[in-house]
Parts: sequence; structure tokens; C-alpha cells
Amino acid sequence: MATGVFGGSFDPVHHGHLSAADRAAEALGLGTVLFVPCAHQPLKATGPVATADQRCAMVRLAIAGHPRFLLDTCELERPAPSYTVDTLRDLRRRRPDERLVLIVGADAAAELPRWRAADEVARLAEIAVLTRPGVPEVASAFVKHLVATPAIEVSASDIRARCLSGKSIRYVVPDAVAEYIARNHLYQ
Ligand code: ATP
Repeated sequence: MATGVFGGSFDPVHHGHLSAADRAAEALGLGTVLFVPCAHQPLKATGPVATADQRCAMVRLAIAGHPRFLLDTCELERPAPSYTVDTLRDLRRRRPDERLVLIVGADAAAELPRWRAADEVARLAEIAVLTRPGVPEVASAFVKHLVATPAIEVSASDIRARCLSGKSIRYVVPDAVAEYIARNHLYQ
């Protein structure tokens, strides 16, 4: 069976991530989707503002009960920065008989040619790009699958900004994640 690999800062994980991963699992027949929080996003200007442990805790709360979703902390166990190629090499070793499907958003897919060892990434995993209404599609030789996802206009940076100004994040993250954020005074 195929295993999906869904990386991100997950700072915090939100319903955009969860619904996209669920659609990818369904559309591509994935037995498992691994949520892989990064230690440090090489192409992003600012780092996460929750700790790695807090980001993992929120992913655990968000995916609890989903039969196909798992947390994989391999990127947090290596020194930063996290490179997808290293993660895929590691997963290939740990899951030698499984097809790996790398799930990426359209924004990440546009940067794919600039990724470290992009050719090897595309050899290690089939690349699936999440498409949303209104987001331009990425045409690239690297891309194997397109997965239509619902347009959930939410981003982690918007959630952090909402928390900072005391606004509600109800219904954009799972209740358990909203409670964790409030209890731990995150993003303030
Ligand atoms: P930030 O706002 O901090 O940049 P983010 O919400 O984009 O964060 P990431 O953890 O960077 O979240 O995203 C991980 C992956 O999820 C990326 O490939 C991204 O394209 C995708 N993604 C993010 N938000 C959505 C959404 N609303 N719907 C579908 N996919 C999403």
C-alpha cells in the first residue's frame, strides 16, 4: 500500500491541512498519511513560534481517531534544517516495500525545482500536488498527481495573527487544538 508524506511547519495544524490530507488519502488510495513536522523550513523567512514539542502535541490532538493519519517526528530528530530528500531516504529505509507519495501544496510545488536534490525527491516518491479553486495549478515534470481539495481559506500565519489579537480560531482548527493553544498561551 502507498504511504502519503505530508510535511509542514504545522504551527499550528489546521482544518486546511486535515481536509487536504484526507482528500489525498481518499483520491490516491493511501493506507497511511504521515504528518511530518519540519525542524526548520529552509525556504521560509521566519521560524515557527511554537516549539517542536508543542507542534507535535497539536498534530497528535488533531489526528487522534483518524484511522490513516500518523505523526512522524523524523525531521525533529535530525539537526535543522529539514530537507525532504533526507526524510524520503529515511522513509525508504524504514518502509522499503511501500510506495511513497509526497503530498505538497501548490505553493511548495512551485518551489520544487529549487529543492535540494529535487530529482532524487521525484525518484523516491510520487509527487502529489494539492489543488484548490482559485490557486493557479503548477505545471512541472516532477508532478505525478493532482488532488482537488476544498477551498478552506485558512493559514497557520493567519491563525497566529488572530491569536495575537485575541480573535477567535474556533472552527479553523479542531477544538482540541484550539483548547491546547489557549491553555498554553501560544502565539501571544
Ligand atoms: P504558514 O501560514 O505559516 O505559511 P501554512 O498554513 O501554509 O503555514 P504549512 O505547515 O506551511 O501551513 O503547510 C504545510 C502544507 O499544507 C503546505 O504544503 C501547504 O501548501 C499546505 N496547506 C496549507 N494551508 C492549506 C489549506 N488551507 N488548504 C490546503 N493545503 C494547505
